[in-house]
Amino acid sequence: MVRKLICLLLALLLLGSLALAEEEAEPVDPRIQPAIALSFDDGPSEYTQQVLDILAEYDCRATFFMVGTNMNNMPEMVKTVYESGNEVGLHTWRHNDLTQMNADAIVRNLQLCQNIVLEQTGTTARWLRPPYGKVGPGAYGACNALGMYIATWTIDSRDWETQNAAKIEKEVMGQLHNGAIILFHDTHSATVEALRNILPQIVEKGYQVLTVDQLMSFRESLKSATHYYHLDMNKLRPLE
Ligand SMILES: [Zn+2]
Repeated sequence: MVRKLICLLLALLLLGSLALAEEEAEPVDPRIQPAIALSFDDGPSEYTQQVLDILAEYDCRATFFMVGTNMNNMPEMVKTVYESGNEVGLHTWRHNDLTQMNADAIVRNLQLCQNIVLEQTGTTARWLRPPYGKVGPGAYGACNALGMYIATWTIDSRDWETQNAAKIEKEVMGQLHNGAIILFHDTHSATVEALRNILPQIVEKGYQVLTVDQLMSFRESLKSATHYYHLDMNKLRPLE
């Protein structure tokens, strides 16, 4: 009986360490295995958990660029996103057009967002996704002051526009490339539906599906207050 218990305990320990090892699998250089980053803007919303579930099913990661007022309504979702191994990024407090604000106003705006992120995750966001993809001097000044990076995208799924799963899938799969940052919104059911078809295809093609920060960590250098669209394959750090 004691022996059986010990065996069971050992088996459980082994399973535990295997699960841990899987969780900690480090991304590899995109020259060895191609990689893309997924990003979801405008949440958190009632669809965010469904997106997280699909990501987990295929062992994929993504960055969620959240709107402050939505984080304020669903603070526990900020924590859930972070604790599931995904990244929390900022998308301003009220989906503000950053070309209409000065640096001081943007700093205050982003700090309101960071307060929630810090409270829920114990850390702050590194990346800003400017609403409408619009950046001006104010945004660069604010990101310089806060040490944040700016990320837009190279592939727009146009999900909010078409709200049609087949069209979203066609848009994304037709443009897939190594180093891409793909734009989605976790605010529509069509996006969730499309993701169920898109993710297995991307994984099948051999791509790693990463957060923006994971993908961009392969650059030779990252400068705050700089606008990145994707991972530039000509600017990677040397292979180890
Ligand atoms: Zn947006």
